[in-house]
Amino acid sequence: MGVSQHDATKLFIQGFMARRIMSDRVARLLYKKCCAAVTACMPGQEPCPWSEERFNQLIEAVSTKLNPLDLQVANTIDDQTGRKMWLILNMKGDELAQLATEYSAAEIAFFKQLIEEIVTAPNESYSISSIHALKQLKFAKVGNKTITRAQGEVLLSSFVANGWLTKSARGRYMLGTRARMELEQYLLNNFEDLSADQECVICTALVFSGVRCTTTACKARLHKHCYENIQRRAETRNGKLDCPSCRSDWTGKTLRKVGEEAAGANDDQLRGRKQQESDEEGSEEERPARIVRKKGNAKGKKKYASYNALRLCSNCNLQGR
Ligand SMILES: [Zn+2]
Ligand SMILES: [Zn+2]
Repeated sequence: MGVSQHDATKLFIQGFMARRIMSDRVARLLYKKCCAAVTACMPGQEPCPWSEERFNQLIEAVSTKLNPLDLQVANTIDDQTGRKMWLILNMKGDELAQLATEYSAAEIAFFKQLIEEIVTAPNESYSISSIHALKQLKFAKVGNKTITRAQGEVLLSSFVANGWLTKSARGRYMLGTRARMELEQYLLNNFEDLSADQECVICTALVFSGVRCTTTACKARLHKHCYENIQRRAETRNGKLDCPSCRSDWTGKTLRKVGEEAAGANDDQLRGRKQQESDEEGSEEERPARIVRKKGNAKGKKKYASYNALRLCSNCNLQGR
């Protein structure tokens, strides 16, 4: 069978599936390379052209092809870098099962423990130090399988490389872009406070890094890029900036932080000590789960659907940088 322009789409899907997550810049570069490879295989025929419009059509075509497999193409802004990212999401993302193809049961137990520590971190810091992360290895026992510290370090790097975790310049671990997107339903189902308190007042996605209102009682949380958007809009109007929720005056004020900047110097030490104390009181099997199971998740499901629609909107203001 001869090579045709459609093969560029097939090549792109293969490259995208292998990566699962890539920046907008890399996605465009990948498609350009796919077009060039296909053109090189079709001497004398019309070349496979690259254009901005064709890239948008490509994303739509890839999404249509993957939907029957319960996979979805989505984009988001990376909390840390501010870059636009493209992801292939597993739409059955209400459990951690999708990690099973990449990791063993003990490794998934370790990841689950890390997620819990990150999501329940004090002061909305949503981050843990690498020392505290490695301490969680003791909860990653499945049967008689354990993970050594050296294996744990490799595993942490693997979680970062696969987009499940992010490691900051300060060396703290946070939820990665893939975890925030693909495990959103899992997080909403398991951590009750999240859906009530951590929705961005601008885009409604969960905020694990960003800013919060200066008024203590106000629940307004915003991603950094969403905050910058309303800041820019305020500048083009009269320069006056209000909280979108409680309307308190934000003009010239430094907002409180959400994410690793909110982490206290001794947070992880105190948590480690508490974990140790509860371990000494009882065996690991008796350790009470701190995950708060939601009684019903109707709200979560509804929200997830609307969030997907938002993410798929190619005309939204989530512009890559
Ligand atoms: Zn937002
Ligand atoms: Zn407010």
